[in-house]
Amino acid sequence: MVRRIIKNNQKNTWNCFIKIVLSFFVILFYVCYYSVNAKPIHIIAAENMYGNIAQQIGGNTVQVDAILNNPDEDPHLFELTPHSSQKINQADFIIINGLGYDSWIDRLLNSFHIKNNKVISVQNLLNRASGSNPHLWYDLQAVKNLANELEHKLAAQQPENKSLFIHNRDLFLNEIKQIDQRIQRIRALHSQLYIAATESVFGLMAKNMGFIVLEEPYQWVVMNGGEPTPQQIAQFTHDLKTHKIQILVYNNQVSNNATENLKSIALEQKIPVIGVEEIMPPSLSYQKWINHILDKLESVLQRLPQ
Ligand SMILES: [Zn+2]
Repeated sequence: MVRRIIKNNQKNTWNCFIKIVLSFFVILFYVCYYSVNAKPIHIIAAENMYGNIAQQIGGNTVQVDAILNNPDEDPHLFELTPHSSQKINQADFIIINGLGYDSWIDRLLNSFHIKNNKVISVQNLLNRASGSNPHLWYDLQAVKNLANELEHKLAAQQPENKSLFIHNRDLFLNEIKQIDQRIQRIRALHSQLYIAATESVFGLMAKNMGFIVLEEPYQWVVMNGGEPTPQQIAQFTHDLKTHKIQILVYNNQVSNNATENLKSIALEQKIPVIGVEEIMPPSLSYQKWINHILDKLESVLQRLPQ
């Protein structure tokens, strides 16, 4: 009798062991099968700051390639290489800014017959009319809309990862909310500040801070690679020399002799100059990049004469 109980116990232990081993192999099989077959969603971003946001929302489920990735190049003068063109043809989603900023991509979208539902246009997400300031990533509403759109698109592509995309989107939006609060604090303390820029890159954020942006016609000419008129240069110089301009924002990426000259006048006049980029330095995240710019701005604002 005792021997039989022992035998039964041994049998149960053995069965249990077999079940555990089998379960282990079944789990291993699913993990291997999934990792081999879960092909990453391939996203091409025309600009690296949008690519960075896509990477944050998609995590390991996406492979992101950004085309404009160099903060030392003038993006308004960019031309595509054949290698980048081919990648666009193979992407699951393509993020573009719109408003003519990345018009080099339109020709490819047409020639490859890329379907509209594969293209995420930030201009369209904002419903922004053509002719508006194209530097949309300096408008937080643009990146909020983009994060939401990416969550929807990625979840439609990989429904099994929906909760991951929602989680990542919420983390991102939470950090954007903190940047938004920072902008509102600056607005409360310093609205009606007169600011000018050598190019319109920072204009949307400056206006959200309530700043009065001067020399806009000059900035638009520089943005489009043209030569400002003598009247525009004279007006800008006058406003610097009379200290009507309280801060000069200098576009590090889109510059020429005329903008260099204005920067020198501002420095001579002891008007603070803040350098900003069009394209994010690749070592940063979108949030870190914007926070760095706000750090520079706030340190200047604290030292402005009251
Ligand atoms: Zn620009």
